[in-house]
Amino acid sequence: MLKVENLTFSYNKTPVLKDISFKVEQGENLAVIGESGSGKSTLLNLLYGEFDLNKGHVFWKETEILGPKYNLVVGYDFMKYVSQEFDLMPFITVEENIGKHLSNFFPDEKKERTVELLEVVELTEFAKTKVKTLSGGQKQRVALARALAKQPEIVLLDEPFSHIDNFQKQSLRRNVYRYLKDKNITCIVATHDKEDVLGFADRMIVLNNNKIVVNDSPETLYKKPKTGLIASFFGEFNLISGEIIYAHQLKVVEKSSVKATVIQSYFKGHYYLIEANLDEQKVFFEHDTQLKNYQIVYLLIKKSTL
Ligand code: ADP
Ligand code: MG
Repeated sequence: MLKVENLTFSYNKTPVLKDISFKVEQGENLAVIGESGSGKSTLLNLLYGEFDLNKGHVFWKETEILGPKYNLVVGYDFMKYVSQEFDLMPFITVEENIGKHLSNFFPDEKKERTVELLEVVELTEFAKTKVKTLSGGQKQRVALARALAKQPEIVLLDEPFSHIDNFQKQSLRRNVYRYLKDKNITCIVATHDKEDVLGFADRMIVLNNNKIVVNDSPETLYKKPKTGLIASFFGEFNLISGEIIYAHQLKVVEKSSVKATVIQSYFKGHYYLIEANLDEQKVFFEHDTQLKNYQIVYLLIKKSTL
């Protein structure tokens, strides 16, 4: 289990993280979300022992994770960290990068593990390609595979799919998160993408104003978002009489006491997102078809359609 106790940290005078505590069980997938600059990368760095804490402790099982002041070589064998800048070895091949830290005393295992991980990150056909010729997204996938090569007990992933195009993102996510679950590897993923969370994360913590504002399952937070910040992570929403109403919970009906004027329809695939004016307030709702600008519609909140 990873245990974070009252962690406080600042790069200079102003604290980035203040009095942070949470736990992650073995094999659990925890998402760390928050706006850009909220301290997600800083937190992962601290969990890895990259910097010294101002206050608090981090433990993995019985081992206290220590910063450079107390630990000559940063990092631990049981923990791997894939940062936003992945430092690979450019002049050797993809498979050589992945196998870099695997022992040559066990060539069969090394080969097997490399083949397995090339499949997970969908780079089998690039095995013999030199890393320097790869795209950003491909490099990111090599970095992921390399981090998993030695079967760490815990991985820290910082926006792990940010460089990967939409064509491959979905299947790659499924592969990687399934692999981690299969091997019971604890995963902490910093992200601002709800697709990294829904369907994969067991819990999520939200960082805001140097603190953890919530720590719960994605399902609970989605169904009962306590703040606009949390709701906005999941999708377009409205604040109606102080209540958070997602765009898909607002329906056009034949007649109601809520009258709105359509401003614009946005094609979203299987629905249109409609922007409308309601008593000078902007509202968003989903609709099956495009609506005409300036058209009058009547709206009703249907909260059962979560
Ligand atoms: P996130 O990953 O959520 O975008 P970061 O952890 O990168 O956020 O940054 C949190 C805050 O710490 C930001 O205000 C950022 O400017 C600051 N920060 C990040 N890295 C450094 C650094 N090496 N030195 C000083 N300030 C930093
Ligand atoms: Mg970051």
